[in-house]
Amino acid sequence: MTRTADWQALDAAHYLHPFTDHQSLARKGTRVITRAEGVYLWDSEGRRILDGMSGLWCVALGYGRRELAEAAYRQMLELPYYNSFFQCANPPAIELAAKLAELAPPQFKRSFFTSSGSEANDTLVRMVRRYWALRGQPQRQVIISRWNGYHGSTMAGASLGGMKAMHAQGGLPIPGIVHIGQPYWFECGGDLTPEEFGLQAARELEQKILEVGPENVAAFIGEPVQGAGGVIIPPDSYWPEVQRIVDRYGILLASDEVICGFGRTGRWFGCEHYGTRPDFMTLAKAITSGYLPLGALMVSDRVADVLIAEGGEFAHGYTYSGHPAAAAVALANLGIMQREHIIDRVRETLTPYWAKRWAELGDHPLVGEARSLGLFGALELVPRKPSRAFFPERGTVGTRARDLAIGNGLVMRAVWDTLIVAPPLVIREAEIDELIEKARLTLDQLRDALHKDGLI
Ligand SMILES: *Cc1c(COP(=O)(O)O)cnc(C)c1O
Repeated sequence: MTRTADWQALDAAHYLHPFTDHQSLARKGTRVITRAEGVYLWDSEGRRILDGMSGLWCVALGYGRRELAEAAYRQMLELPYYNSFFQCANPPAIELAAKLAELAPPQFKRSFFTSSGSEANDTLVRMVRRYWALRGQPQRQVIISRWNGYHGSTMAGASLGGMKAMHAQGGLPIPGIVHIGQPYWFECGGDLTPEEFGLQAARELEQKILEVGPENVAAFIGEPVQGAGGVIIPPDSYWPEVQRIVDRYGILLASDEVICGFGRTGRWFGCEHYGTRPDFMTLAKAITSGYLPLGALMVSDRVADVLIAEGGEFAHGYTYSGHPAAAAVALANLGIMQREHIIDRVRETLTPYWAKRWAELGDHPLVGEARSLGLFGALELVPRKPSRAFFPERGTVGTRARDLAIGNGLVMRAVWDTLIVAPPLVIREAEIDELIEKARLTLDQLRDALHKDGLI
């Protein structure tokens, strides 16, 4: 047996994967990724693949950064672990909390550490409800979020998220979480202009607040740009209207920055791109460029001051909250982002180039819309232009495109029939050209295949 076949057999026998249909995986065999450098992955057959998804949205600085590996190594020799319970802390976690306060919008000075975005959102649910109880309004329990938002896979994270397939497994959402529509103009905008539709989508929040009763609503949570939902870039009218509504009813605003945070939009945080003033930010993924797991919940002074002055003990925490090695990697990662002006380069140099090249794909006969923001990109696959109607059996065409892309040496992700990418923030112009070329080749192959099957 080759090593690949060996690994595939062991994998099929023993390994339960996240978000995976194991029967179909066993038929195909898992793809084993063995090494990576810059924006490229290599699989166990030696094939080179351009990683258009930054791993899972996290490898902002690309692969093979020795400085990050060395930060972890040095910290593990010095102090591999100690907890932050019982009035203790460690230097990297303290310094990371201070660094985040320096980088975040001015209302944020404090961070609660976790090991993932899901755990940070679980922390959010508990902290929001705790805050309102301390304010003498314990009935304020309800958190409003959006259908097709993604906030993680723990019980609270999946409940906040609006993925119906996730809710269907395990009796979710948990009580006190309700959902409104998403600002997805391409699918839901009908005859409205994007700006009109953005206002209408935001006003669903106001309707929901009135339906639940403003005195019962604790918070609203959203991703500035929905990532896993299909890189859904809201119309510019959306977030200012959401901000007006949460202000009007005195409701807390949580910005899930797990994907948008740390430069994806060309700003440090997605809320800065849209000009909202959140009370919480959930962070993870690019905070360490994925080299070690770390998440954080940043808490604004308005909330933290109440928790600290009146809250006594907040009965919540994780064994690995403030893990020293993960914090050391995050510090090194953020240090490189600052020193190399990574985010200025994304905003000023890469974004204009990316936007121009990505938009070119919009002329392809299968592409109903090619949208981008910062280093996000999405393509809506449609059978007929200029109609915004999707293919019948939604999702099958997207999956075919994704598989063709991998064959062409490019990782793109399919969300139903939307192809999405979010390459590392260190991608070079020539690598962007290669990505676009491979995406176009994929679209051409898909067109031929669909033609042959009589689907177009
Ligand atoms: C990935 C993601 C999460 C969950 O983070 P995990 O580290 O996978 O738990 C939460 N919110 C958003 C927006 C995400 O993309």
